[in-house]
Amino acid sequence: MPFTELQNELDDRAAQGLLRRRRMLESAQGVRIIVDGQDYLSFCSNDYLGLANHPQLVAALQQGAQQFGTGSGASHLVSGHFSAHQALEQALADFVGKPAALSFSTGYMANLGAVQALVGRGDTVFADKLNHASLNDAMLLSRAEVKRYRHNDMAQLAEQLAQTMSGRKLIITDAVFSMDGDIAPVPELLALCEQHDAWLLLDDAHGFGVLGEQGRGVLSHFRLESPRIIYMATLGKAAGVSGAFVAAEAVVIETLLQNARSYIYTTASPPALSVALLASMSILREEDWRRERLQQLIAQLREGLRGLPWTLMQSDTPIQPLLVGSNESVLALSEDLRACGIWVPAIRPPTVPQGTARLRISLSAAHDAADVAALIEALHELAL
Ligand code: PMP
Repeated sequence: MPFTELQNELDDRAAQGLLRRRRMLESAQGVRIIVDGQDYLSFCSNDYLGLANHPQLVAALQQGAQQFGTGSGASHLVSGHFSAHQALEQALADFVGKPAALSFSTGYMANLGAVQALVGRGDTVFADKLNHASLNDAMLLSRAEVKRYRHNDMAQLAEQLAQTMSGRKLIITDAVFSMDGDIAPVPELLALCEQHDAWLLLDDAHGFGVLGEQGRGVLSHFRLESPRIIYMATLGKAAGVSGAFVAAEAVVIETLLQNARSYIYTTASPPALSVALLASMSILREEDWRRERLQQLIAQLREGLRGLPWTLMQSDTPIQPLLVGSNESVLALSEDLRACGIWVPAIRPPTVPQGTARLRISLSAAHDAADVAALIEALHELAL
């Protein structure tokens, strides 16, 4: 049995400071959490609007469970597609300004399904090098040819598009880069799509709920719309629940419904989750103060972190990465913060490129100015 080999691989990983471990939450997700028995001020969740433990969402989930029970019982195409799923898909399509939408159980599955359904052998996928792992896996699974361009490098992408003579062309990119916080140049990407007759799949996992009018996402942020754009977003981050969706032209959505294996061959998510998500969408639409609060906290953090020995990366979103460099230093800094009762995760390769290990500070509308001041003070003290 190759157990020794497995153990050796794990030991190597540990020696490089790359072993990951799980911390156990004993409270609801939020700004103040209990982890492994200790109280922490948390800057490490994607719950950007503070909705993951909102009483209205909890009540909606309970009501959804009363009405529809706990399990969906089957895949969508067999007998697991409920009125709540349908209502959510319609509401999501309207919200992001697309004719149709299809819901998936997770963002990972949405990306796998969308890319695999739309392209295959003989086609080409163009991908930003800093894309999320799920987009990377999706393009490999699709069997299309893959061309990766340097992060946001439109000149290199234009060259690659110009060299591609046959098949479908699909550009895939994070809209807000998950470990960097910067926003993709969507207007330039769309212009290239038009020039080269390509499609653009935008993964707005970190923009939905946060960017644009009423949190409608990156398309609203740039005031853009095009049938070439296939919009994907997740519902377990700002929306505070779980799941994901793809919104696009009706013919694209019908193609996904017929072809996306991660949609077809899996049990539909519990319909009660869709009921909770409909409640979440009301809050997204109505409570602009959450996005305004985020903007204030982002400005406060960026101002307060000036003069540190580590580089605060350029970002206007709630993802504010502090570049530290080596795996050991970032782990030590994260541990030191933890000793002060503050939890900020250390992000290491392969999630980010070698030598760019960082603290991924994420802000939430549930933080207040005093919380951010506490983080700023702790980091300045640890820098001494
Ligand atoms: N895309 C991006 C950019 C993400 O950050 C994530 C989640 N970290 C996903 C997709 C996957 O979404 P989910 O967690 O719903 O599977």
